Amino acid sequence: MIVIKYLYIGIDDTDSPDGMCTTYLASQIINKFNDNGIELVDYPRLIRLNPFARFKTRGNGGVSLKILNNDKAGLARQIVLEEVEKLSMFDCDNTNPGVIFYDGEITEKMENYAFRAIYEFITIEEAEEFGKSVGCEIHKFKKGRGIIGSIAAISLPLSDYTYELLAYRSAENYGTKRRIDYESVYLMDKKTFPDTFENIDYSENYIAIEPKTPCPVLYGIRSNNVEALKEAKEIVEVGEPIVDWCIFKTNQHTDMHIQKAESISEMEQFGCYEVVGEVKNKPRIIDGGHMFFFISDKSGEIECGAYEPTKNFRKTVSHLRPGDIIRVFGGIGEQNTFNIEKFQVIKLNDVEYKNPICECGKSMTSAGKNKGFKCKRCGNRVKSDKKVPIKITRSLKNSEFYETPVSARRHLSKPLCRMDL
Ligand code: ATP
Repeated sequence: MIVIKYLYIGIDDTDSPDGMCTTYLASQIINKFNDNGIELVDYPRLIRLNPFARFKTRGNGGVSLKILNNDKAGLARQIVLEEVEKLSMFDCDNTNPGVIFYDGEITEKMENYAFRAIYEFITIEEAEEFGKSVGCEIHKFKKGRGIIGSIAAISLPLSDYTYELLAYRSAENYGTKRRIDYESVYLMDKKTFPDTFENIDYSENYIAIEPKTPCPVLYGIRSNNVEALKEAKEIVEVGEPIVDWCIFKTNQHTDMHIQKAESISEMEQFGCYEVVGEVKNKPRIIDGGHMFFFISDKSGEIECGAYEPTKNFRKTVSHLRPGDIIRVFGGIGEQNTFNIEKFQVIKLNDVEYKNPICECGKSMTSAGKNKGFKCKRCGNRVKSDKKVPIKITRSLKNSEFYETPVSARRHLSKPLCRMDL
């Protein structure tokens, strides 16, 4: 039996807020691979890790490549290290590249490590020890923090995945306004959604495919399949050169960061969860426009937040009322509040207790403590002090999901248009 052997390559932490992008570096490596007859097995992968990781530049993403482990593997390693040396933003204190080469099978232990890199914090020392224990060849540049993400990027199994097409700018245009014809982006969205998604935030008229940083990316289009990406690329018109483009397979928009919590008390700070709870109080808005309310279950309670950047989502949240049972998805951040990414209504509380209505049609008022109610118009009285349940109409719907707008969404958050895939 012929056993095919592969070489896995992981790269992370090469960029800085001032420029570069690890995906661009990967695309340059792939070009050099092509020039040298080194073929990739499957698409390059862009793997998003713990959204709360402290040293991330933007979205905490690492990249991995898979090639045949044949007589060209040595050359491939050389190309990777040379490109990382050449293109990484070494001047930035927070840029600490890490490269991993691994020529074995991806084991369960490695998969578990990758999930830990999504759910928890891992130190450089821990990653190095782990990498060595499974036989990774480790290359650290400066502090080498990137090895944490690199090992995870090669190891993560993708039971669910999406694709992203990234188009890159010419170097002389870095940092200048991107020349993208917005009308064509609207057209592209109209023609390719929901195969492509997260293109535009209609509520804010915000073009989400356009990055806001001085990086080499001109635009990034996200999709469930490659065909739609190629169609979308044909539709989007730009007024500047695209020097290169590359499609990545990714865990973006899969909810892979979300763990199911059986109770509120088991959730920990800097973890991302889905949990069911009862709304305790009417959502209130504070200075700065952030909206908060508590949910509770038998084990405890937690404050949930819909922050100002979630814009109109706060209006939806404001329709929640005490007694509603909801399933919230999100993460517990810096302030120890549960930052909501989306929620599902499990059961609305559609009953309100009101003063009884008199025969004459007027609402009765209290006749005093323990004295029941009386009608001010016709003098009728009822003895009972109990308010009566009235069914009310709610604008929210049972079973329905409600999500933050595209402009405020995390890379890993699964949008509703993908929920039943
Ligand atoms: P970009 O999205 O532009 O690629 P980024 O946000 O991915 O930038 P990086 O430059 O990759 O930022 O930096 C993130 C750093 O965090 C990397 O060094 C990575 O190894 C590390 N890291 C990733 N996951 C974890 C984790 N779970 N715990 C601690 N560190 C992590």
